[in-house]
Amino acid sequence: MPSRSSAVAALLGLSHELGREGRMLAILGEGNASARVSPGTFLVKASGSNLATLGRECLTECRMEGLLALLGKRNLGDSDVTAALLASRVDPRARIPSVEAVFHAWLLTLPGVQFVGHTHPVAVNGLLCSRWARSFSERRLFPDEIVCCGEASVFVPYTDPGHRLARAIRRETTRFIERRGQAPRVILLANHGLIAIGSTPQAVLAGTLMAEKAAHIFTGAASTGASPRFLSGRQVTRISGRPDEHYRRKALGL
Ligand SMILES: [Zn+2]
Repeated sequence: MPSRSSAVAALLGLSHELGREGRMLAILGEGNASARVSPGTFLVKASGSNLATLGRECLTECRMEGLLALLGKRNLGDSDVTAALLASRVDPRARIPSVEAVFHAWLLTLPGVQFVGHTHPVAVNGLLCSRWARSFSERRLFPDEIVCCGEASVFVPYTDPGHRLARAIRRETTRFIERRGQAPRVILLANHGLIAIGSTPQAVLAGTLMAEKAAHIFTGAASTGASPRFLSGRQVTRISGRPDEHYRRKALGL
């Protein structure tokens, strides 16, 4: 695990990249990012703060335990979730963490995951608000998409943000891992946005940017009127397993 100060610097750097003006991944208070800083705690963006200009004071350190316990409960009210978010803070003077801190906590328990980035990218959301949402998540169009976003992304049907969404993300991601025997790099939320996970900030940024590029390409392919021409399952597996792509992933810090 990296030192606390290097994790803070890496998380702020990732947040600024995700919020960069012109990329159209997140504007105003949209999106959030997190990093694991100790076996039982993580840092996450405080509610309502801006990714592009995030400062140290806008990061809240949370204990994972209380937030993970919420996932075992059904039908919690908003006030129960707010109370748990406030109680999870290591420093009671810190700002309230984002309501999405619950899914950050769970994703950071997956093997090898140290960083999580959640955004609302324009082109990705264009597809996630369309009939193509599931195809965009589960099919692949070009090799670099496989290198940065994995063989497929998790698809999560629309649900209420916060506690219910965190439960849906856990359910769909667990199914994905059981079916494929590997963790995803990207999770797509219908009518909402994208989550990228990884062991480094570079992996999270690469998954996010490449998914956004893939969405532009998908939209271009679909605008011809016919279905986009997807790579076959065999082609996807071949790219994913190629030794040169493995080295490229390593060189890119993915
Ligand atoms: Zn969101």
